[in-house]
Amino acid sequence: MTKGNSGLAQAGSNNIYNKASSGIEIVRILVAGGAGFIGAALCEKLLGLGHAVVCVDSLQTGSAQVVDRLGAFTAFTFLHQDIAQPLDAGLVGTVEQVYNLACPASPRQYQQDPVKTIETNVIGTRNLLELARIARARFLLASTSEVYGSPQQKPQREDYWGNVNTTGPRACYDEGKRCAEALVQAYHTQHQVDTRIARIFNTYGPGMQRDDGRVVSNFVTRILDGAPIEIYGDGRQTRCFCYVDDMVEALIALMTSECVTPMNLGADREVSVVELAHLVGRVLEKPVTLRVAPALVDDPRERQPDLEKCRRVLGWQATTSLEMGLLKTAAFFARTQEHSHA
Ligand code: NAD
Ligand code: UDP
Repeated sequence: MTKGNSGLAQAGSNNIYNKASSGIEIVRILVAGGAGFIGAALCEKLLGLGHAVVCVDSLQTGSAQVVDRLGAFTAFTFLHQDIAQPLDAGLVGTVEQVYNLACPASPRQYQQDPVKTIETNVIGTRNLLELARIARARFLLASTSEVYGSPQQKPQREDYWGNVNTTGPRACYDEGKRCAEALVQAYHTQHQVDTRIARIFNTYGPGMQRDDGRVVSNFVTRILDGAPIEIYGDGRQTRCFCYVDDMVEALIALMTSECVTPMNLGADREVSVVELAHLVGRVLEKPVTLRVAPALVDDPRERQPDLEKCRRVLGWQATTSLEMGLLKTAAFFARTQEHSHA
Protein backbone atom coordinates (compact mmCIF):
# COMPACT_ATOMS: atom_id res chain seq x y z
CA MET A 1 0.00 0.00 0.00
CA THR A 2 1.34 3.41 -0.94
CA LYS A 3 -0.02 6.61 0.51
CA GLY A 4 -0.35 10.27 -0.21
CA ASN A 5 0.54 12.77 2.47
CA SER A 6 -2.48 12.25 4.68
CA GLY A 7 -2.05 8.46 5.17
CA LEU A 8 -4.88 5.99 5.30
CA ALA A 9 -5.45 5.68 9.02
CA GLN A 10 -5.69 9.41 9.32
CA ALA A 11 -7.92 9.65 6.26
CA GLY A 12 -10.18 6.91 7.58
CA SER A 13 -10.81 8.86 10.75
CA ASN A 14 -11.63 12.12 8.94
CA ASN A 15 -15.06 13.55 9.41
CA ILE A 16 -17.21 13.19 6.33
CA TYR A 17 -18.15 16.81 6.37
CA ASN A 18 -16.04 19.71 7.47
CA LYS A 19 -16.69 23.34 6.84
CA ALA A 20 -13.79 25.00 5.08
CA SER A 21 -13.20 28.64 5.89
CA SER A 22 -14.72 29.41 2.46
CA GLY A 23 -17.99 27.87 3.63
CA ILE A 24 -17.80 25.07 1.03
CA GLU A 25 -18.94 21.73 2.35
CA ILE A 26 -15.96 19.34 2.31
CA VAL A 27 -16.88 15.85 1.16
CA ARG A 28 -14.74 12.73 1.44
CA ILE A 29 -14.72 11.18 -2.02
CA LEU A 30 -13.39 7.88 -3.36
CA VAL A 31 -12.12 7.98 -6.95
CA ALA A 32 -11.39 4.52 -8.36
CA GLY A 33 -9.08 4.88 -11.36
CA GLY A 34 -7.87 8.24 -10.00
CA ALA A 35 -4.32 7.66 -11.30
CA GLY A 36 -5.58 7.47 -14.90
CA PHE A 37 -6.15 10.17 -17.49
CA ILE A 38 -9.64 11.43 -16.59
CA GLY A 39 -9.43 10.21 -12.97
CA ALA A 40 -6.34 12.28 -12.20
CA ALA A 41 -7.93 15.43 -13.63
CA LEU A 42 -11.04 14.70 -11.56
CA CYS A 43 -9.00 14.17 -8.36
CA GLU A 44 -7.13 17.41 -8.95
CA LYS A 45 -10.35 19.34 -9.48
CA LEU A 46 -12.02 17.85 -6.38
CA LEU A 47 -8.93 18.54 -4.25
CA GLY A 48 -8.83 22.09 -5.60
CA LEU A 49 -12.44 22.53 -4.49
CA GLY A 50 -11.29 21.58 -0.97
CA HIS A 51 -12.59 18.01 -0.81
CA ALA A 52 -10.74 15.00 0.63
CA VAL A 53 -9.97 12.36 -2.01
CA VAL A 54 -9.14 8.68 -1.63
CA CYS A 55 -7.77 7.35 -4.92
CA VAL A 56 -8.01 3.59 -5.38
CA ASP A 57 -5.98 2.38 -8.36
CA SER A 58 -4.05 -0.73 -9.44
CA LEU A 59 -1.81 1.37 -11.73
CA GLN A 60 -2.61 -1.00 -14.61
CA THR A 61 -2.72 1.96 -16.99
CA GLY A 62 -2.42 4.74 -14.41
CA SER A 63 0.72 6.59 -13.48
CA ALA A 64 2.73 6.53 -10.23
CA GLN A 65 4.06 10.00 -11.14
CA VAL A 66 0.52 11.32 -11.15
CA VAL A 67 -0.01 9.83 -7.70
CA ASP A 68 3.16 11.55 -6.47
CA ARG A 69 1.94 14.85 -7.89
CA LEU A 70 -1.48 14.54 -6.26
CA GLY A 71 0.28 13.56 -3.00
CA ALA A 72 1.24 17.23 -2.66
CA PHE A 73 -2.36 17.81 -1.48
CA THR A 74 -2.64 16.89 2.19
CA ALA A 75 -6.26 15.81 1.62
CA PHE A 76 -5.16 13.16 -0.92
CA THR A 77 -4.79 9.48 -0.01
CA PHE A 78 -3.68 6.72 -2.35
CA LEU A 79 -4.62 3.07 -2.01
CA HIS A 80 -2.78 0.74 -4.42
CA GLN A 81 -5.55 -1.77 -4.99
CA ASP A 82 -7.22 -3.76 -7.74
CA ILE A 83 -10.96 -3.07 -7.42
CA ALA A 84 -11.71 -6.64 -8.59
CA GLN A 85 -10.04 -7.91 -5.40
CA PRO A 86 -11.95 -7.67 -2.11
CA LEU A 87 -11.93 -4.11 -0.80
CA ASP A 88 -11.32 -3.49 2.86
CA ALA A 89 -13.97 -0.92 3.77
CA GLY A 90 -12.01 -0.18 6.95
CA LEU A 91 -9.01 0.91 4.89
CA VAL A 92 -11.09 3.18 2.74
CA GLY A 93 -12.91 4.74 5.70
CA THR A 94 -16.20 6.55 5.43
CA VAL A 95 -16.84 8.15 2.09
CA GLU A 96 -19.76 10.21 0.89
CA GLN A 97 -19.29 9.79 -2.86
CA VAL A 98 -17.75 7.04 -5.02
CA TYR A 99 -16.67 7.68 -8.63
CA ASN A 100 -15.80 4.47 -10.49
CA LEU A 101 -13.45 5.32 -13.36
CA ALA A 102 -11.25 2.24 -12.94
CA CYS A 103 -10.87 0.53 -16.33
CA PRO A 104 -8.51 1.01 -19.28
CA ALA A 105 -10.28 3.12 -21.92
CA SER A 106 -7.96 2.66 -24.89
CA PRO A 107 -9.03 -0.22 -27.17
CA ARG A 108 -5.44 -1.44 -27.42
CA GLN A 109 -5.08 -1.50 -23.64
CA TYR A 110 -8.47 -3.03 -22.75
CA GLN A 111 -7.99 -5.75 -25.39
CA GLN A 112 -4.59 -6.78 -23.97
CA ASP A 113 -6.22 -8.78 -21.17
CA PRO A 114 -9.92 -9.10 -22.01
CA VAL A 115 -10.71 -11.35 -19.03
CA LYS A 116 -9.24 -8.75 -16.69
CA THR A 117 -11.26 -6.00 -18.40
CA ILE A 118 -14.48 -7.92 -17.75
CA GLU A 119 -13.47 -8.64 -14.13
CA THR A 120 -12.69 -4.97 -13.53
CA ASN A 121 -16.04 -3.87 -14.90
CA VAL A 122 -18.18 -6.55 -13.31
CA ILE A 123 -16.50 -7.73 -10.09
CA GLY A 124 -14.77 -4.40 -9.51
CA THR A 125 -17.97 -2.40 -9.98
CA ARG A 126 -19.80 -4.78 -7.66
CA ASN A 127 -17.12 -4.39 -4.96
CA LEU A 128 -17.41 -0.61 -5.15
CA LEU A 129 -21.21 -0.73 -5.14
CA GLU A 130 -21.08 -2.85 -1.96
CA LEU A 131 -18.82 -0.28 -0.40
CA ALA A 132 -21.22 2.52 -1.44
CA ARG A 133 -24.16 0.55 -0.04
CA ILE A 134 -22.48 0.06 3.33
CA ALA A 135 -21.22 3.64 3.50
CA ARG A 136 -24.55 5.00 2.15
CA ALA A 137 -22.48 6.87 -0.39
CA ARG A 138 -23.62 8.18 -3.76
CA PHE A 139 -22.10 6.14 -6.62
CA LEU A 140 -21.20 7.26 -10.15
CA LEU A 141 -20.19 4.82 -12.87
CA ALA A 142 -17.97 6.02 -15.71
CA SER A 143 -19.73 4.13 -18.47
CA THR A 144 -19.14 4.74 -22.14
CA SER A 145 -20.55 5.50 -25.58
CA GLU A 146 -19.37 1.96 -26.39
CA VAL A 147 -22.58 0.65 -24.80
CA TYR A 148 -24.15 1.76 -28.12
CA GLY A 149 -21.60 -0.40 -30.02
CA SER A 150 -21.63 0.43 -33.72
CA PRO A 151 -24.83 2.48 -33.53
CA GLN A 152 -27.58 2.32 -36.09
CA GLN A 153 -29.07 5.64 -35.05
CA LYS A 154 -27.51 9.09 -34.92
CA PRO A 155 -27.17 11.01 -32.73
CA GLN A 156 -27.27 8.39 -29.97
CA ARG A 157 -29.91 9.13 -27.34
CA GLU A 158 -29.81 7.53 -23.92
CA ASP A 159 -32.89 5.42 -24.70
CA TYR A 160 -31.14 3.70 -27.67
CA TRP A 161 -30.26 0.10 -26.73
CA GLY A 162 -27.25 -0.19 -28.97
CA ASN A 163 -25.72 -2.64 -31.42
CA VAL A 164 -22.92 -4.64 -29.80
CA ASN A 165 -21.13 -7.79 -30.95
CA THR A 166 -20.98 -9.99 -27.84
CA THR A 167 -17.98 -12.01 -29.05
CA GLY A 168 -15.88 -9.46 -30.96
CA PRO A 169 -12.59 -7.98 -29.70
CA ARG A 170 -14.38 -4.96 -28.17
CA ALA A 171 -16.90 -7.12 -26.29
CA CYS A 172 -14.83 -7.31 -23.08
CA TYR A 173 -15.17 -3.56 -22.74
CA ASP A 174 -18.58 -2.94 -24.30
CA GLU A 175 -20.34 -5.82 -22.58
CA GLY A 176 -18.31 -5.26 -19.39
CA LYS A 177 -19.66 -1.71 -19.24
CA ARG A 178 -23.18 -2.80 -20.16
CA CYS A 179 -23.10 -5.31 -17.31
CA ALA A 180 -21.68 -2.63 -15.00
CA GLU A 181 -24.64 -0.38 -15.90
CA ALA A 182 -27.04 -3.27 -15.17
CA LEU A 183 -25.34 -3.85 -11.80
CA VAL A 184 -25.59 -0.17 -10.91
CA GLN A 185 -29.28 -0.21 -11.78
CA ALA A 186 -29.80 -3.41 -9.74
CA TYR A 187 -28.13 -1.87 -6.68
CA HIS A 188 -30.31 1.18 -7.14
CA THR A 189 -33.59 -0.73 -7.28
CA GLN A 190 -32.72 -3.63 -4.95
CA HIS A 191 -30.56 -1.86 -2.35
CA GLN A 192 -31.64 1.77 -2.83
CA VAL A 193 -28.08 2.90 -3.55
CA ASP A 194 -28.09 6.46 -4.86
CA THR A 195 -26.53 5.98 -8.30
CA ARG A 196 -25.49 7.92 -11.41
CA ILE A 197 -24.47 6.56 -14.83
CA ALA A 198 -22.26 8.74 -17.06
CA ARG A 199 -21.96 7.58 -20.67
CA ILE A 200 -18.68 9.23 -21.57
CA PHE A 201 -17.87 9.92 -25.23
CA ASN A 202 -14.29 10.24 -26.54
CA THR A 203 -12.30 12.45 -24.20
CA TYR A 204 -8.81 13.83 -24.83
CA GLY A 205 -6.36 16.39 -23.50
CA PRO A 206 -3.26 16.93 -21.41
CA GLY A 207 -2.51 13.93 -19.19
CA MET A 208 -3.15 11.33 -21.91
CA GLN A 209 -0.42 8.76 -22.29
CA ARG A 210 1.72 9.30 -25.37
CA ASP A 211 1.60 5.60 -26.29
CA ASP A 212 -1.96 4.63 -25.33
CA GLY A 213 -2.83 4.02 -28.99
CA ARG A 214 -5.82 6.38 -29.06
CA VAL A 215 -6.39 8.51 -32.10
CA VAL A 216 -5.70 11.94 -30.56
CA SER A 217 -2.48 10.91 -28.79
CA ASN A 218 -1.27 9.04 -31.89
CA PHE A 219 -2.01 11.87 -34.32
CA VAL A 220 -0.73 14.73 -32.16
CA THR A 221 2.54 13.03 -31.12
CA ARG A 222 3.33 11.77 -34.62
CA ILE A 223 2.54 15.05 -36.36
CA LEU A 224 4.66 16.88 -33.77
CA ASP A 225 7.50 14.44 -34.51
CA GLY A 226 7.07 14.85 -38.28
CA ALA A 227 6.19 11.15 -38.59
CA PRO A 228 3.44 9.69 -40.80
CA ILE A 229 0.14 8.83 -39.17
CA GLU A 230 -1.93 5.73 -39.77
CA ILE A 231 -5.58 5.82 -40.81
CA TYR A 232 -7.28 2.57 -39.92
CA GLY A 233 -9.61 1.64 -42.78
CA ASP A 234 -11.09 4.35 -45.02
CA GLY A 235 -10.88 7.03 -42.31
CA ARG A 236 -14.52 8.02 -42.83
CA GLN A 237 -15.52 6.67 -39.41
CA THR A 238 -16.53 9.52 -37.10
CA ARG A 239 -16.09 10.50 -33.45
CA CYS A 240 -16.85 13.57 -31.30
CA PHE A 241 -14.08 14.74 -28.98
CA CYS A 242 -14.52 16.35 -25.57
CA TYR A 243 -11.74 18.21 -23.75
CA VAL A 244 -10.83 16.65 -20.41
CA ASP A 245 -11.49 19.72 -18.23
CA ASP A 246 -15.00 19.97 -19.70
CA MET A 247 -15.57 16.27 -18.98
CA VAL A 248 -14.47 16.65 -15.35
CA GLU A 249 -16.97 19.49 -14.89
CA ALA A 250 -19.70 17.33 -16.39
CA LEU A 251 -18.91 14.38 -14.12
CA ILE A 252 -19.08 16.57 -11.02
CA ALA A 253 -22.31 18.17 -12.24
CA LEU A 254 -23.86 14.74 -12.79
CA MET A 255 -22.70 13.48 -9.39
CA THR A 256 -24.29 16.47 -7.67
CA SER A 257 -27.49 16.31 -9.75
CA GLU A 258 -30.54 14.24 -8.90
CA CYS A 259 -30.47 12.29 -12.20
CA VAL A 260 -30.40 8.52 -11.60
CA THR A 261 -30.84 7.46 -15.25
CA PRO A 262 -27.95 7.15 -17.77
CA MET A 263 -26.66 10.39 -19.21
CA ASN A 264 -24.49 11.04 -22.28
CA LEU A 265 -21.53 13.32 -21.56
CA GLY A 266 -19.28 14.67 -24.27
CA ALA A 267 -19.08 17.07 -27.18
CA ASP A 268 -21.20 16.70 -30.32
CA ARG A 269 -19.07 18.18 -33.12
CA GLU A 270 -18.66 15.15 -35.36
CA VAL A 271 -15.42 14.71 -37.32
CA SER A 272 -14.13 11.83 -39.42
CA VAL A 273 -10.74 10.36 -38.64
CA VAL A 274 -9.28 11.84 -41.84
CA GLU A 275 -10.74 15.26 -40.99
CA LEU A 276 -9.18 15.00 -37.53
CA ALA A 277 -5.77 14.26 -39.07
CA HIS A 278 -5.92 17.39 -41.25
CA LEU A 279 -7.29 19.48 -38.40
CA VAL A 280 -4.37 18.50 -36.15
CA GLY A 281 -1.97 19.44 -38.96
CA ARG A 282 -3.67 22.85 -39.45
CA VAL A 283 -3.80 23.65 -35.73
CA LEU A 284 -0.13 22.71 -35.22
CA GLU A 285 0.89 24.25 -38.57
CA LYS A 286 2.71 21.05 -39.50
CA PRO A 287 2.60 18.89 -42.62
CA VAL A 288 0.55 15.68 -42.39
CA THR A 289 1.50 12.40 -44.06
CA LEU A 290 -1.22 9.77 -44.08
CA ARG A 291 -0.70 6.02 -44.37
CA VAL A 292 -3.56 3.60 -44.77
CA ALA A 293 -3.61 0.67 -42.33
CA PRO A 294 -6.13 -2.18 -42.06
CA ALA A 295 -9.49 -1.34 -40.53
CA LEU A 296 -10.03 -2.53 -36.95
CA VAL A 297 -12.58 -5.28 -36.34
CA ASP A 298 -15.95 -3.91 -35.20
CA ASP A 299 -14.67 -0.31 -35.26
CA PRO A 300 -17.84 1.82 -34.87
CA ARG A 301 -18.58 3.67 -38.13
CA GLU A 302 -20.07 6.74 -36.48
CA ARG A 303 -20.57 8.11 -33.05
CA GLN A 304 -22.26 11.29 -31.92
CA PRO A 305 -24.00 11.91 -28.61
CA ASP A 306 -27.43 13.42 -28.29
CA LEU A 307 -26.72 15.94 -25.53
CA GLU A 308 -30.24 17.31 -25.07
CA LYS A 309 -30.65 15.58 -21.68
CA CYS A 310 -27.36 16.79 -20.29
CA ARG A 311 -28.03 20.38 -21.39
CA ARG A 312 -31.55 20.28 -19.96
CA VAL A 313 -30.81 18.46 -16.68
CA LEU A 314 -27.30 19.66 -15.87
CA GLY A 315 -27.35 22.94 -17.78
CA TRP A 316 -23.89 21.86 -18.96
CA GLN A 317 -22.16 21.90 -22.29
CA ALA A 318 -18.53 21.62 -23.35
CA THR A 319 -16.90 25.01 -23.91
CA THR A 320 -13.42 24.14 -25.24
CA SER A 321 -13.24 24.11 -29.04
CA LEU A 322 -11.54 21.14 -30.64
CA GLU A 323 -8.89 23.48 -32.10
CA MET A 324 -8.06 24.96 -28.68
CA GLY A 325 -8.11 21.54 -26.99
CA LEU A 326 -5.75 20.09 -29.60
CA LEU A 327 -3.35 23.02 -29.13
CA LYS A 328 -3.29 22.46 -25.36
CA THR A 329 -2.81 18.72 -25.86
CA ALA A 330 0.08 19.32 -28.26
CA ALA A 331 1.68 21.74 -25.78
CA PHE A 332 1.41 19.04 -23.10
CA PHE A 333 3.03 16.39 -25.29
CA ALA A 334 5.78 18.77 -26.40
CA ARG A 335 6.51 19.60 -22.75
CA THR A 336 6.58 16.00 -21.56
CA GLN A 337 8.76 15.01 -24.53
CA GLU A 338 11.32 17.69 -23.54
CA HIS A 339 11.37 16.32 -19.99
CA SER A 340 11.85 12.74 -21.16
CA HIS A 341 14.90 13.90 -23.19
CA ALA A 342 16.30 16.00 -20.33
P1 NAD B 1 -7.15 5.32 -18.17
O1 NAD B 1 -6.75 3.98 -18.68
O2 NAD B 1 -6.22 6.46 -18.38
O3 NAD B 1 -7.45 5.23 -16.61
C1 NAD B 1 -8.02 4.12 -15.99
C2 NAD B 1 -7.46 4.00 -14.59
O4 NAD B 1 -8.07 2.86 -13.96
C3 NAD B 1 -5.95 3.74 -14.56
O5 NAD B 1 -5.34 4.55 -13.58
C4 NAD B 1 -5.84 2.27 -14.22
O6 NAD B 1 -4.62 1.94 -13.57
C5 NAD B 1 -7.06 2.07 -13.34
N1 NAD B 1 -7.52 0.68 -13.30
C6 NAD B 1 -7.78 -0.14 -14.36
N2 NAD B 1 -8.22 -1.33 -13.91
C7 NAD B 1 -8.23 -1.26 -12.55
C8 NAD B 1 -8.58 -2.17 -11.52
N3 NAD B 1 -8.99 -3.41 -11.78
N4 NAD B 1 -8.49 -1.75 -10.24
C9 NAD B 1 -8.07 -0.50 -9.95
N5 NAD B 1 -7.70 0.40 -10.88
C10 NAD B 1 -7.80 0.02 -12.17
O7 NAD B 1 -8.58 5.64 -18.79
P2 NAD B 1 -9.38 7.01 -18.84
O8 NAD B 1 -9.34 7.53 -20.21
O9 NAD B 1 -8.95 7.91 -17.73
O10 NAD B 1 -10.86 6.50 -18.57
C11 NAD B 1 -11.42 6.54 -17.27
C12 NAD B 1 -12.80 5.92 -17.27
O11 NAD B 1 -13.65 6.61 -18.19
C13 NAD B 1 -12.81 4.45 -17.69
O12 NAD B 1 -13.72 3.74 -16.89
C14 NAD B 1 -13.30 4.49 -19.12
O13 NAD B 1 -13.99 3.32 -19.46
C15 NAD B 1 -14.22 5.70 -19.10
N6 NAD B 1 -14.31 6.30 -20.44
C16 NAD B 1 -13.26 6.99 -20.95
C17 NAD B 1 -13.33 7.52 -22.23
C18 NAD B 1 -12.20 8.30 -22.83
O14 NAD B 1 -12.31 8.74 -23.99
N7 NAD B 1 -11.11 8.54 -22.16
C19 NAD B 1 -14.49 7.33 -22.99
C20 NAD B 1 -15.53 6.60 -22.44
C21 NAD B 1 -15.44 6.10 -21.16
N1 UDP C 1 -7.66 5.43 -35.34
C1 UDP C 1 -6.86 5.61 -36.47
N2 UDP C 1 -5.51 5.70 -36.31
C2 UDP C 1 -4.91 5.64 -35.09
C3 UDP C 1 -5.74 5.45 -33.94
C4 UDP C 1 -7.10 5.34 -34.11
O1 UDP C 1 -7.36 5.67 -37.60
O2 UDP C 1 -3.67 5.75 -35.01
C5 UDP C 1 -9.13 5.40 -35.48
C6 UDP C 1 -9.80 4.14 -34.92
O3 UDP C 1 -9.86 3.13 -35.91
C7 UDP C 1 -11.18 4.67 -34.53
C8 UDP C 1 -10.93 6.14 -34.17
O4 UDP C 1 -9.66 6.46 -34.73
O5 UDP C 1 -12.04 4.63 -35.65
C9 UDP C 1 -10.93 6.39 -32.67
O6 UDP C 1 -10.05 5.48 -32.07
P1 UDP C 1 -9.70 5.52 -30.51
O7 UDP C 1 -8.88 4.31 -30.23
O8 UDP C 1 -9.13 6.83 -30.13
O9 UDP C 1 -11.12 5.45 -29.76
P2 UDP C 1 -12.45 4.58 -29.94
O10 UDP C 1 -12.34 3.69 -31.11
O11 UDP C 1 -12.57 3.83 -28.66
O12 UDP C 1 -13.50 5.61 -30.11
